[in-house]
Amino acid sequence: MLYDRQTNPPPPAEDSRPFDLLRVPLVGNLLRRRHARTVLQIPLFVVAALMILHGFFGPQLAPKNLATTLSWVHFRGALVLALLLAGNFFCMACPFMLPRNLARRFVTPRRNWPRALRNKWLALALFVGVLFAYELFDLWGSPLWTAWLVVAYFAGALLIDGLFKHASFCKFVCPLGQFNFVASTVSPLEVKARDLNVCEGCRTKDCIRGRRERPESPVVIQRGCELALFQPRKTGNLDCTFCLDCVQACPHDNVGIVSRLPAEELLTDKMRSGVGILSKRRDLSALAVVFTFGALLNAFGMVSPVYALEGWLARALRLNHEAPVLGLVFALFLVVEPLLLLGAAAWVSTRWGGLRGGVLQAVVRYSYALVPMGFGVWLAHYGFHFLTGLLTFIPVAQSAAAGAGWPVLGEPLWRLTGLPERVVYPLELGFLGLGLLGSLLLTYRLAVEDEARRRGLVFATWAALCVALWVSGFWLMSQPMEMRGTFLGN
Ligand code: SF4
Ligand code: SF4
Repeated sequence: MLYDRQTNPPPPAEDSRPFDLLRVPLVGNLLRRRHARTVLQIPLFVVAALMILHGFFGPQLAPKNLATTLSWVHFRGALVLALLLAGNFFCMACPFMLPRNLARRFVTPRRNWPRALRNKWLALALFVGVLFAYELFDLWGSPLWTAWLVVAYFAGALLIDGLFKHASFCKFVCPLGQFNFVASTVSPLEVKARDLNVCEGCRTKDCIRGRRERPESPVVIQRGCELALFQPRKTGNLDCTFCLDCVQACPHDNVGIVSRLPAEELLTDKMRSGVGILSKRRDLSALAVVFTFGALLNAFGMVSPVYALEGWLARALRLNHEAPVLGLVFALFLVVEPLLLLGAAAWVSTRWGGLRGGVLQAVVRYSYALVPMGFGVWLAHYGFHFLTGLLTFIPVAQSAAAGAGWPVLGEPLWRLTGLPERVVYPLELGFLGLGLLGSLLLTYRLAVEDEARRRGLVFATWAALCVALWVSGFWLMSQPMEMRGTFLGN
């Protein structure tokens, strides 16, 4: 066969292929099995059910309850570490999808998700809502409210996907999913078509249409991508739940979980299947901004200066309730501060740096470059709780089993905690440093690619913003942090 370099390039040599997790013996074989996702979901479903039960009926002391310990100490830390080292494997193993998938065997939703809501604004509001509720109701300290939150996730997924077609809950509603989508842009793996030439010759496009008994048959025996990501035009991890339906559906075994340069997808401004063009997605840009500044705000809620600020605001404005004070703090850090900082950087870039387009366009385009810095802060914060409380789930599980009249796990070993803070602190700084490096590289590449008249000034402006965020993160991680959800905090 002759290969034309433009239209029909030769297949990549065996050793120039990217790493493909699905080709790794054992792990790849397991992930490619038809019910791999269900097998991963079942243990998490069981854990979630135990958390709900313990949250409702167990001791209402956070460090002794599975709901609070597993949610706020272990789950969040394991989530960000998995995103850093691999990809969106938590969406893959999402327990909320298990009852939803079961229900879909009996109920076929007929409605399409409303056109006006086909964006991230609702999910963004819910994301902020969860962060707000976390602070207002001290979710970290309340097993009961934490259990209700888990129940709300199950109910939301069931209700939304029971009414609306496709994966409407994951794509347009789930706040946790949006966090994972944004964070997974810095992950080293992505679900991707292995060879676009194979896709070009593919007649059925089963990865998106679903595999049918016969091509003309209406009966789908393996669904395609429910998140509207068409493999040949899919770019990166945004909106991808790693469900691997496309892997199952592709008749040519042409979809893999392949390695790539983390965060590079944030530079790509071409049309993406199911996502569109990043620089035209103000909702996604706002999500990236809230993801970044929300990381700082969430960590700020853990250190004592937040109480001083809240007290000052309450006194100055004569407010007696926490909700409006907290609302002001959120407005300050998630709206006013980003508007001022990004607005100023965009104004300097366009006015003096010669960046083409308006201020708003510059804000949207460069906001994505802040994601690595934001992720670095989430990593440092959640990694701190996870590592310092690493073993706390053992005595809590022992105690829960004993409380249920089933003391097979033995006496609770309450002395088990985790790594000492002096060991974890350098790791936190390392995560922050990685985040800063990623954001600096992205802003540099953007400044070069945008061919601004004074690209050095454009880069310096956005780099200054990244450094300011890093300094904030560094200051926050250097403060004594509340050890929420563990006995170390009491
Ligand atoms: S990924 Fe598979 S099903 Fe989809 S277009 Fe390519 S070859 Fe066809
Ligand atoms: S089917 Fe869609 S969401 Fe699932 S792994 Fe493939 S591209 Fe991602």
